[in-house]
Amino acid sequence: MLSKIGALAFEKGFLELGSEFSTELQPTSLTEPSWVVTSPQLASEIGLDARFIEDQESLDILSGNQVPTHIRPFASVYSGHQFGVWAGQLGDGRAISFGQIAHQGNAWEIQLKGAGSTPYSRMGDGRAVLRSSIREFLCSEAMHHLGIPTTRALAITSSPTPILRETLETAAVVTRVAPSFIRFGHFEHFAANGLHEQLQTLCNYVIQYHYPHLKKSDQPYLELFKEVLERSARLVAQWQSVGFCHGVLNTDNMSILGLTLDYGPFGFMDKFSLNHICNHTDSQGRYSYANQPSIFYWNLVRLAQALLPVIADDDSDEAMEAAIEKIKPLLSQFSEIYQQHYRKLMSQKLGFQKGVGQESNELIQELIKILDNNHVDYTYFFRNLTKVIHQPSDPILKDLIIDRDSFDQWLYKYLNFLNTFNLPLSEITLQMNQVNPKYILRQHLAQNAITLSQSGDHSLTKALQRCLVHPFDEQPEFEDFAKLPPEWAEHLEVSCSS
Ligand code: AMP
Ligand code: MG
Repeated sequence: MLSKIGALAFEKGFLELGSEFSTELQPTSLTEPSWVVTSPQLASEIGLDARFIEDQESLDILSGNQVPTHIRPFASVYSGHQFGVWAGQLGDGRAISFGQIAHQGNAWEIQLKGAGSTPYSRMGDGRAVLRSSIREFLCSEAMHHLGIPTTRALAITSSPTPILRETLETAAVVTRVAPSFIRFGHFEHFAANGLHEQLQTLCNYVIQYHYPHLKKSDQPYLELFKEVLERSARLVAQWQSVGFCHGVLNTDNMSILGLTLDYGPFGFMDKFSLNHICNHTDSQGRYSYANQPSIFYWNLVRLAQALLPVIADDDSDEAMEAAIEKIKPLLSQFSEIYQQHYRKLMSQKLGFQKGVGQESNELIQELIKILDNNHVDYTYFFRNLTKVIHQPSDPILKDLIIDRDSFDQWLYKYLNFLNTFNLPLSEITLQMNQVNPKYILRQHLAQNAITLSQSGDHSLTKALQRCLVHPFDEQPEFEDFAKLPPEWAEHLEVSCSS
């Protein structure tokens, strides 16, 4: 285990693709940096001793104030569709990569988000504020421990430097870590500019490092698309099953590895509503909870279009037509793959023991309707359902429901169905508690941590980090984090401002 960031053996990674893919540059330094929080779990996964926090040089490196000579920082270029409209060139406007390291056979790219402007910053200042950095840090680590694929976060460093958003805030840098930060938008960029050779180079790079089993395929690019589609379908099913809304599902925020990427105005739903919109800026509800799977499909169609030139044998109309015909059947499978994952995950949440069938499907659908009509707290409901299984007269859930007759009818059918498995209820509820988190990053918890951290006290941010590492365990010291949210939480608004 290494005790200094600077001791990690950085390789060029994405930078090796050349200047059409990224720009070499130095981060902009941050005045008076200090640690806010770190993830000891991630540190150990990348071969770093958790005590790296004691090293002044590590603080300077992760604040962008010092770059060891073996690190060659860069920002990458990508394009994308934002809110359904082609936005043209975007790129890492405030994320600066240090390249990649390898540990125990895994490659990790390490990136500073908020480390200053880049050639892709457009009108932005290249900075991130403490508020959004805490949200990104806590949620990436929470998602990972929920078992949901995501980019990770190693640390936040902060500075008194003022940053102007709606109000005056302060700057911070999140150290993000992932096998790769390549987005659908990277492929769209080269396709839209007619740079087919570079598009192919990018595909080969992704296959080489992240889908190496496809190297021997006869149709590696088609297979690549198929695997991205499968991973994406699974990811969005996992989001739906925990009530997570991303908020800005633009194609430049879609990971080619099927990771949750770019935490902005995201939110775990408290009160369940199919039409829930977590991003205050999304007035049309394009990225509402219920729309997420179809938006994934829409984004995958954009990726498919971008990949057509490399899937086709040549540039002729016939070859393009043939490529379209190859990709169409894959796209048409998306909905079924998604549904299968979703039903399986929901069945597990409800403690069903056998494969998904008609009866379990009906129970899932009826329950979703009840939760939606009554705006029941989603996480609380599933976690406390086990209590009602053991004691059907327990009012813990009924008290949250207005239409109690519907719930009673559903509960009657549900309990009967559970009985058909001939398993002790204690065994079923034990399994349920392993998939229904007790602790999630509720909006008000994140907000409380932010408010305190903004005053210089990071204890709540750190406590949440520790708690969310074990989302399925009973943790009496964190009981308050599992309570229903206070009323003011309903009026919290998050926007793209970050
Ligand atoms: P996002 O909505 O955070 O995914 O960002 C969309 C695009 O805007 C990306 O190209 C970002 O790099 C860029 N961007 C967002 N905020 C800033 C900022 N403060 N400075 C520079 N670029 C930014
Ligand atoms: Mg983004």
